[in-house]
Amino acid sequence: MKELAGTLHRLRRAHRYRSRRVLDGAQGPEIAMAGRRWLNFCSNDYLGLAADARVVAALRDGAARFGAGSGAAHLVCGHGAAHHRLEEMLADFTGRQRALLFSTGYMANLGVISALAGRGDDLLADRLCHASLLDGALLSRARLRRYPHLDAAALDEALARDGAGRIRLVITEGVFSMDGDMAPLAKIARQCRARDTWLMVDDAHGLGVLGPRGGGTTAHFGLSPQDVPVLVGTLGKALGTAGAFVAGDEDLVEYLIQHARTYLYTTALPPAVAHATCTSLTLARDEHWRRDRLQALCRRFLHGARQLDLSLPPALQAEPAGENDPPLVPIFPLLAGEDARALRWSEALARRGILVTAIRPPTVPEGSARLRITLSAAHHEEHVDRLLDSLAQLGRSLHES
Ligand SMILES: *Cc1c(COP(=O)(O)O)cnc(C)c1O
Repeated sequence: MKELAGTLHRLRRAHRYRSRRVLDGAQGPEIAMAGRRWLNFCSNDYLGLAADARVVAALRDGAARFGAGSGAAHLVCGHGAAHHRLEEMLADFTGRQRALLFSTGYMANLGVISALAGRGDDLLADRLCHASLLDGALLSRARLRRYPHLDAAALDEALARDGAGRIRLVITEGVFSMDGDMAPLAKIARQCRARDTWLMVDDAHGLGVLGPRGGGTTAHFGLSPQDVPVLVGTLGKALGTAGAFVAGDEDLVEYLIQHARTYLYTTALPPAVAHATCTSLTLARDEHWRRDRLQALCRRFLHGARQLDLSLPPALQAEPAGENDPPLVPIFPLLAGEDARALRWSEALARRGILVTAIRPPTVPEGSARLRITLSAAHHEEHVDRLLDSLAQLGRSLHES
């Protein structure tokens, strides 16, 4: 298809071309790729559960009991006992009446937004929301307006301008995927309740990581189901498997079962994946040491990174105030600006056997290409130290180039 070649060529010249890398083994802090070992600092396996032996055993057990595939959509004959049990566990875990499984987070966001909003409705979303949330808004045909990132005051102004109940849905992430910062959810929830507007939180990166039992950003802020009536979580990140869910009250979930097209018209997740997720959810909830360890690794990295004067976001450059600081998020952006520079940094780390992919537009706004460093409870302190060493050696070129 020759017509496409020109576009590809332009992408390459603009340093926007993306290529995949082929991993040889399991996900983990050390991975095998292209015939060598790498230290991995770009996975979302925050709790180290993706290759946990008990989760893998549960997947195997699930396949033996329920087969490889679900065979149909949930409403036809694909909704199995493992799916049902996982939904009940997720409802309990999030403190909601019900939870509904989706095959991916992308599909959950498309399905929920397009079911809850339609032509003539208004949506308000944080400017840095994930592509799946924006695509959900597009698919719904509602009018999407965006407020400045994390800006609760601007959001409140927009809500006030439109009057109570005019905005159908306010949409934010709990922890932002590319920036690692937290939405001021307590404020936002209060504002939405005062204006009679539903709040939808996509907590793909907070779930399992934040909150006393890994309940996520909403649990960290102690928010009720009435504060956040629509909660989306994904299973492929901290929970180590695949899939996603929406949690809320009885009416929301029954409504979505009738109306969410990405729920209705797709094959249910393999039941073995749901079965394995029951195990990983239990581990994520009960093995508190994983969150403690992740926090300790984050503090270690941040302490070292501050001394290297890297281009961390301003909020991370400030010295911690003490005990009552909010928990750290295991996502550390190093801002490069230009795409080519982010690529150079990533390549320089790659030469030292360290994998951190460069994140470029349109994943992030123009001019804000970056390295996105993520930590996992499966990392060791030596891994973090090796990363810091490599960043220190790069330090000079980081500043010069
Ligand atoms: C990863 C991600 C998703 C998509 O989830 P998948 O299960 O990977 O499709 C949705 N929202 C946010 C904020 C994400 O980071």
